[in-house]
Amino acid sequence: MHTLNADLHCHSSISDGTLAPEVLAARAKANGVELWALTDHDELRGQHRARAAAAALGLPYLTGTEVSVTFAGETVHIVGLGFDPDDTRLAEGLARTRGGRELRAREMAEDLARVGIKGAFEGALKYVGNPDLISRTHFARYLVEIGACRDTQEVFRRYLTEGKPGYVPHRWAALGDAVRWIVEAGGIAVIAHPGRYKLTPNQEYALFSDFKEHGGRAVEVVTGSHTAQDYVKYASMAREFGLLASRGSDFHSPEESHTDLGALPYLPGEVQPVWTALQERVLRP
Ligand code: AMP
Ligand code: MN
Ligand code: MN
Ligand code: MN
Repeated sequence: MHTLNADLHCHSSISDGTLAPEVLAARAKANGVELWALTDHDELRGQHRARAAAAALGLPYLTGTEVSVTFAGETVHIVGLGFDPDDTRLAEGLARTRGGRELRAREMAEDLARVGIKGAFEGALKYVGNPDLISRTHFARYLVEIGACRDTQEVFRRYLTEGKPGYVPHRWAALGDAVRWIVEAGGIAVIAHPGRYKLTPNQEYALFSDFKEHGGRAVEVVTGSHTAQDYVKYASMAREFGLLASRGSDFHSPEESHTDLGALPYLPGEVQPVWTALQERVLRP
């Protein structure tokens, strides 16, 4: 077991979390996190705030982001860690990736209106902290507010996933581009929560091998949405593919997330933690 309480995946109100970077930093510290990264979707805008807040609390910090990628027709997320937060090519790539979100959100609202849910675009916007980053999560919060569903999980199940009336397919970044932006900015690319994708075994194998070929170096083994079986499976895939292992709660909100910052099992002993390759990238207070 690797007994470092590292939490290298979470979201602030710069993307679809509900807490400010400073509040997250304090929560991470209070929960005993020893190495932290804020990984907002397709955004770097919270990085300087998170880093400053972590430094003030004496909390070691790694820069982070989570890039939306389309692979084999599925949405796959690639976390980047330990890159230069002022890298312009990474910033441009992320700006392009998030660029289609407003149009997609308007189409989602039109779809929802057809099933009787009016005003969802404006409703979702009330929950948006960053107008460039309107996401399905913001729609989910609005649908809970108006009583269409009991919780955000139910909204995703009934409205916001493939085949459901509020789902609008979207083309995100290419896998190779996302990995390249992160690597060229000096960071390490990580396959986020692989247990969540609806890929066939062949497609999953292709994801891991393509990722590796593009220069990706790590995979999340212990993360909020993984089961104990997933820990075992992805620890073994990490070894098979020669990938480093990461650990992160994917915390979004005290009301919605069942895994709090820092509240995860440790990485199993047979994997090599991603932070061993990021020592010189850790921002120490
Ligand atoms: P988007 O980037 O707009 O497609 O939104 C994706 C976000 O929705 C993810 O980052 C999660 O925070 C959230 N999400 C996706 N699926 C679910 C689900 N089944 N239940 C709750 N939240 C989900
Ligand atoms: Mn999210
Ligand atoms: Mn994700
Ligand atoms: Mn995430």
